[in-house]
Amino acid sequence: MDCSRQKGILYIVIPCFNEEEALVSSSLKLLDKLHQLVRSGMISNQSKIVFVDDGSADKTWEIIQELYNNNEEIIGLRFAHNRGHQNAILAGMMYSVKYCDFTITIDADLQQDINAMEDFIQAYMEGNEVVYGVRNSRDTDGFFKKLSATLFYKTMRIMDCNIYENSADYRLMSKKALKALSEYNEVNLFLRGIIPDIGLKSSVVHFEVFPRMQGESKYSLSKMFTLAVDGITSFSIKPIRMVFMMGILALLVGFFMIIHIVYEHYFGYTVSGWSSILMSIWVLGGAVLLSLGIIGEYVGRNYLETKHRPRYYFWEILSRDERGEDSE
Ligand code: UDP
Ligand code: MG
Repeated sequence: MDCSRQKGILYIVIPCFNEEEALVSSSLKLLDKLHQLVRSGMISNQSKIVFVDDGSADKTWEIIQELYNNNEEIIGLRFAHNRGHQNAILAGMMYSVKYCDFTITIDADLQQDINAMEDFIQAYMEGNEVVYGVRNSRDTDGFFKKLSATLFYKTMRIMDCNIYENSADYRLMSKKALKALSEYNEVNLFLRGIIPDIGLKSSVVHFEVFPRMQGESKYSLSKMFTLAVDGITSFSIKPIRMVFMMGILALLVGFFMIIHIVYEHYFGYTVSGWSSILMSIWVLGGAVLLSLGIIGEYVGRNYLETKHRPRYYFWEILSRDERGEDSE
């Protein structure tokens, strides 16, 4: 390999939202994995695990505090309130970029196979700046999740987003990639779409997904919907263009309708066709409302972006990194 690397400092970033049930066993497995990777000489012994508490209402933060007190290699970051999975991952990565050579992000329930980490690190050693985790199958998901995921990835592709199908947020990023990511200042963040946009050298690792062992999914239907809308609106203005095209089409149809109506009026039979009128009112009304909604989404995004509000704010930081306490 032209640019193979020395073993580096790894920071594993874990977003946690109400994960008290999962965290106890997950943290043991993660610590084990970290030690094993250090022993095998794949990563530096200064590597750490970063838990980001996304404003949990249960005992998640207490567990993280205890883990921090008992383990040198644990870091805890805490949001004051729930800012969502994407912001939690981003915060963990942006904290880590100051101290590590690369990060791996993984969910707190460890549904994603942690034994794939060796493959991620191997790909990093070979000179890749980003390593995407792509799941092997969706067998562990219910019918609805499978269907919505397929629809989502198809839509994203139509919308010109360069996204890997079935790529999760299980991903390795080098310091270089993290620094590039930090230049993306938009508030409405969709990591799975933005990271391929950076365009650095990358590769893919396939991994297994297991059913969630403890607790239940923290991705509610509304959170999934928000993620999908964020993904689409942050990458493409195609929906607005489609609305525009729909408008032109409707006008064309309307034009022919006028000719048809005038003709019928003078030469034909003007039967009281209330059903067709009602139908067109509903269909057109629906199309108008939908179009307004799509435009509204974009106007709303614009409004949110122009305010330049911080994406998150750390309420508490537990860290032994030298500058950990005073970092913003
Ligand atoms: N999560 C988060 N904030 C949220 C929702 C979820 O940080 O608002 C975290 C959660 O703790 C987990 C990861 O995101 O570590 C993925 O969530 P989950 O496993 O519930 O999603 P699913 O696997 O069902 O898609
Ligand atoms: Mg999960």
